Amino acid sequence: MDYYSSQITKLIEELGRLPGVGNKSAQRLAFHIINMPEEQVMNLSNAMVEAKKNVRYCAKCFTLTDKEICPICASPKRNPSMIMVVESTRDLAAYEKTGKYEGVYHVLHGAISPMLGIGPENIKLKELMVRLQGNVEELIIATNSSLEGETTAMYISKLVKPTGVKVTRIASGVPVGSDLECTDEVTLLRALEGRVEI
Ligand code: ZN
Repeated sequence: MDYYSSQITKLIEELGRLPGVGNKSAQRLAFHIINMPEEQVMNLSNAMVEAKKNVRYCAKCFTLTDKEICPICASPKRNPSMIMVVESTRDLAAYEKTGKYEGVYHVLHGAISPMLGIGPENIKLKELMVRLQGNVEELIIATNSSLEGETTAMYISKLVKPTGVKVTRIASGVPVGSDLECTDEVTLLRALEGRVEI
């Protein structure tokens, strides 16, 4: 039964499609939005539309950015011959927060997962291989230590080894099964410093 007007119901429905938002949270958010000043609601909806319209993949590292080349790839202070492979832009952000990594990144946008039907062709692996044809000295694999992350790390390692590029894996300081983005900066740094060749 439709307890609310159809527009409120629609808003609750749309909010409920977001990850981690159940029906109750969707209702709470919907009523919160309705009670917000109109200007604030406009700012929120504009921010969503503008981000969606303008955010794209960096042409080099495939992180999400609103520029052709992201600020990290464009920075002359970064070492382009050292590439860290991460699963997502959020993982990249976690490493950036440490402020200690001077290389560049490659964002896969996922990890290989036979169970979920995600194969090597579904993540940005081809693009990584193209980058390795340039001057790359070290490839640091910083995928998560989940089953998918480890599978992806092994796959990349096997693929890249014949090219002669040094392949390293971040140390297991990152707890098994945990997401990089949830790991504190000290642990991330230790994992980076303790990386080993694979
Ligand atoms: Zn980039």
